[in-house]
Amino acid sequence: MTIAGYPAAAVADAMRHFERCYPREGCGAIVRMPDGGMEFRPIRNVAPRPDSFELDPIEQLELWAAQDLGELEVVAIAHSHCDAPAALSERDREGALLWPGGPPAAGRVGWLVVAIRGGEGRLKLSEIRAFQWREGELVCVDVASRSFGAADR
Ligand SMILES: [Zn+2]
Repeated sequence: MTIAGYPAAAVADAMRHFERCYPREGCGAIVRMPDGGMEFRPIRNVAPRPDSFELDPIEQLELWAAQDLGELEVVAIAHSHCDAPAALSERDREGALLWPGGPPAAGRVGWLVVAIRGGEGRLKLSEIRAFQWREGELVCVDVASRSFGAADR
């Protein structure tokens, strides 16, 4: 599936990563390479609680350094919610304003939230929502989902 203009392969890699992280939240970034292609980069979640995320500070610094060197551009931060809606929490919205460079830089970075629902020992549904900045607010611009049938067991 594609969502909000992000390519299907990058979205699929992100979904797979978050499904593997379940029942812990996962996180990562969608980056644009110099050739224009986009890919998903998983980032270690160092949050102590399973129901929150904190990008590993070293990996995050490496990402921003690579961006400063022109090796890539961070276009979206992605994370998952486990058995919770694909909506931005208050904490997510506050955190989104704290990127290096402050709100102007943050304003260019989109957000992806993937909700993973499980049960009976297997995944049931993954839903992804894309958020973009509009007049200082992150608003949902696209939604996609997939459900897991018996064939996916
Ligand atoms: Zn969140």
